Amino acid sequence: MLFIVVLAVCGTLLFFGRNQPVTLSRWPGHGTSDRPVPTIGAVAVPAADPALLHIVVDDGLYSNERGELDAGVRRAYAYASARFGGTLNAPVTVAIVQDSGCALSGIAYTDVRTLQVQTCNSVASGRAIAILAHEYIHQLQHDRYGSRHLSADLILSEGMATWAAGEYWLGDHADFRSYVRAQRDGGVFYPLATHYAGRSIGEMNALYYQWASFVEFLMSVYGREMFDQVYITGAGDPGSAAYASVYGKDLTTLEQEWIAWLGA
Ligand SMILES: [Zn+2]
Repeated sequence: MLFIVVLAVCGTLLFFGRNQPVTLSRWPGHGTSDRPVPTIGAVAVPAADPALLHIVVDDGLYSNERGELDAGVRRAYAYASARFGGTLNAPVTVAIVQDSGCALSGIAYTDVRTLQVQTCNSVASGRAIAILAHEYIHQLQHDRYGSRHLSADLILSEGMATWAAGEYWLGDHADFRSYVRAQRDGGVFYPLATHYAGRSIGEMNALYYQWASFVEFLMSVYGREMFDQVYITGAGDPGSAAYASVYGKDLTTLEQEWIAWLGA
């Protein structure tokens, strides 16, 4: 079977402890935090259809917390789906697999409906679930936008996947605007159309957060309908979507608006 790797870059995201400074993710510590959900409009987390998720965990991995892991995997889907604003068209396989090098990463094979998180026992399961929350969104994107998702502008596909993973990625921040404002105040800020290729994990992480806040900006200021329209116009590279034809403004103009929206 031919596996087309969709958005394989998810695979190199790594995260650090919850008390790290703003240049890297700060984690709530566990994927089942009860803190209020920061988003555009409230998100109620419904119970997921258990038949939608086929969960496979490697032998020996998180073996003493399988019940909690299962609940966390299902809860992350319910949360991500509600925040994304759509549901899976069909079941997916969620594979939690042992990484021999003990690196935490995720990948979405959306064409074959398989989401995989590589982790190990020394990585808290809540961190693996946080990665999975992002990967769920890639499958939801495929289900909403069809094959056009496969060529989406990375700013929009990765930005949306990060934004919609919401509280799993925000730590103590209320939203991505405040997160990126703090990140920028710490001296980390890139042009939106920056490719992550060849960059460090920290730089890539920072870009994902910027893209998430740009998506937050586009959806809150211009609405979901226009976002859906621009999403399907991309050609892969960051900045490749037809912003001007959808918004009447090119990416440079929108980026300046976003920077102003971020505030001082
Ligand atoms: Zn991704």
